[in-house]
Amino acid sequence: MLTQNLGYPRIGSQRELKKVCEGYWAGKTGHKNVLTVGKNIRHDNWLMQKEAGIDLIPSNDFSYYDHVLDHSLMFGAIPKRYNEVILKQGKEELDLYFAMARGYQKDGLDVVAMEMTKWFDTNYHYIVPEFYKDQSFRLFSAKITNEFYEAKQLGIITKPVLIGPVTYLLLGKEKESGFEKIDLLKNLLPVYEEILTKLQDLGAERIQFDEPFLSLDLTEKEQQAYRDAYKQLRKIFPRLKFILTTYFEKLGSNAELVASLPVDALHIDLVRAPQQLNEVLELLLPTKTILSLGLVDGRNIWKNDFETSLNIIKKAKDRLGDDRVWIAPSCSLIHSPVDLRNEHNAETLTPEIKQWLAFARQKVTEVASLKSLASDSPGVRAQYQLAENQYANGLRKTSSLIHNNAVKERVKKITESDWQRLSAFTLRKQKQQALLNLPLYTTTTIGSFPQTAEVRSWRAQLKKGAITQAQYDLYIARETEKTVKWQEEIDIDVLVHGEFERNDMVEYFGEQLQGFTFTQNGWVQSYGSRCVKPPIIYGDVSRPDAMTVRWSAYAQSLTDKWMKGMLTGPVTILQWSFVRNDQPRSETCSQIALAIRDEVVDLEAAGIKIIQIDEPAIREGLPLRQADWAAYLDWAVKAFRISASGVQDDTQIHTHMCYSEFNDIIQNIADMDADVITIETSRSQMELLDVFADFKYPNEIGPGVYDIHSPRVPNRDEMTYLLKKARAVIPDAQLWVNPDCGLKTRGWDETKLALTEMVAAAKEMRATV
Ligand code: GLN
Ligand code: ZN
Repeated sequence: MLTQNLGYPRIGSQRELKKVCEGYWAGKTGHKNVLTVGKNIRHDNWLMQKEAGIDLIPSNDFSYYDHVLDHSLMFGAIPKRYNEVILKQGKEELDLYFAMARGYQKDGLDVVAMEMTKWFDTNYHYIVPEFYKDQSFRLFSAKITNEFYEAKQLGIITKPVLIGPVTYLLLGKEKESGFEKIDLLKNLLPVYEEILTKLQDLGAERIQFDEPFLSLDLTEKEQQAYRDAYKQLRKIFPRLKFILTTYFEKLGSNAELVASLPVDALHIDLVRAPQQLNEVLELLLPTKTILSLGLVDGRNIWKNDFETSLNIIKKAKDRLGDDRVWIAPSCSLIHSPVDLRNEHNAETLTPEIKQWLAFARQKVTEVASLKSLASDSPGVRAQYQLAENQYANGLRKTSSLIHNNAVKERVKKITESDWQRLSAFTLRKQKQQALLNLPLYTTTTIGSFPQTAEVRSWRAQLKKGAITQAQYDLYIARETEKTVKWQEEIDIDVLVHGEFERNDMVEYFGEQLQGFTFTQNGWVQSYGSRCVKPPIIYGDVSRPDAMTVRWSAYAQSLTDKWMKGMLTGPVTILQWSFVRNDQPRSETCSQIALAIRDEVVDLEAAGIKIIQIDEPAIREGLPLRQADWAAYLDWAVKAFRISASGVQDDTQIHTHMCYSEFNDIIQNIADMDADVITIETSRSQMELLDVFADFKYPNEIGPGVYDIHSPRVPNRDEMTYLLKKARAVIPDAQLWVNPDCGLKTRGWDETKLALTEMVAAAKEMRATV
């Protein structure tokens, strides 16, 4: 029995990689420095895994920005627009690489970056490979062989990790018509052959092929591509051991295909899909394939439950024999924070909670411990670890920190009336119109106003104790007042308070809810140098006190116009946190929904009659397999409705979503029954609105009229142009006017100019109704 790891965080335990890359981009440090930091991180990671007892240690899991982009560079899939960058820069591969990731604006060149998108259902973003009709591939970057050699110098024969050829192609995007990306396989395979030859010559014995698409729905053609690819590679490399990894979902309908592929080992995710074990064991029984059990959760922060894992290992061993079973994390550990030992704040992460957790460094040890414990004669140390594991997990099951019977009871008592508004939308609309008296093409914003360095510095000072809470509150109050007055001045119809008191739209709520806690250093890579620190939901969620009423009511007191209350929705809070694994996600979501509902009701009681519940993450929560969508959408939509339905008919509920590809879920969006939905549409020139039009979406819509991701100030005509496009498909009486998203990342100057133009555009529209 062997242990393997699929990938280790590359940001460094103190985010060293982020710091050096950002320094390099700012021209503050040289490229050699970047390479050195990278090398040190790789060395630390390899040696640590070796010491911890991992038998098969990955290489090429490291990346300076993104591992998918590494592959595009390795395969020479470099869009032509970067040719000039290559020429300008001579032969500095790193500059070309960063240009592809981030665009290039220097020395008179202006080249846009490649597109970025989410890595399956994680919060990691990868750089999308671009494919053209005449796409050819050639070995370009030698990173994978260099890193294999680097580890070999340290005395470690690593297992190089490659994204498998089919997954690589499926991750990409056809940038012109006339071909299908999957047909590029025949051009791509020769590069794999060249790489494998080189690795084999250097002494590599095993190759890890990551093929997560094997856990998704595949077409017949894609299935065939899998057969062809692995048959061909197998034929050329009869001696190299192929490890095929799948994760994030069950093999499901692909199980027979996968079992038939000529590989030496197959890895499956038993955290996400434990139910697939029996079927896979049966399928592998007649073969010689090794089964790698993905037992330690690579996507969450909880300690493994050794007892459960040991039962699974035993079952697999009984069926396949000792030498055909490996132990591993469920997926690459890049989705976990790095090291629990860097958590020192006992006030937020109390010793009681901390003992339930394992970050990447601890997960590696868990894998090794499981191997010892599953052996015939576990050592004393392993037995101690088992006892410790059972003790901690035992406490977690019964801890009063986690269990709140009042919350559990309340969730049980949820009935249909809790997710129904009092009346249907048509009647609500009349009542809201009578009360709110808003003009056609009502103008509003999505919530946040610029979070300037100054605003952020107040928070930092408060944290350090350099200013008192009272001083901080005064600063926030002044900034809020300034923002309210300014919105009045330019004549926006529905005002917001600006969200200056919030660090982050999830953290702000998590900090005030029971059942949440936070880390100091629990950073996880989101994209490139960008890391996030998700809150941890460890227990039943409840709301001890009102969370936003104070600032919303204060802002309302400053104006006679309507002030919009601003909340984050239950699905988004769930989606952007580490979630407990001892109950279904849907259950946790219902608890959050009730807490938000109470906040909505309190806001209403405080005189806030327009309340926005942001749900930008509802779409990204969609399961990977379409068959599972309905169940998810059912509880997710319900959770939103629970949070929104405690109010009177004349209280107007808004929701907001940033990404607006709603084609396949428009019915569910309509089922959310928000009185007003604001969405991102400007970058698609209102095209994303068509699905609402085709559906005859009945409620009100605010299609974003300008892109807030860029500092560029749009002019009035651009916005009226977009609004007229909107008017062509949606009736006037349904349309609102607002930017695409919050203005948090923008500066004041451009914000003022843009919003002034936006109000003028709305007035122009009104005048022509
Ligand atoms: N209300 C939030 C803001 O304006 C919404 C952010 C989001 O959609 N991601 O910042
Ligand atoms: Zn948004």
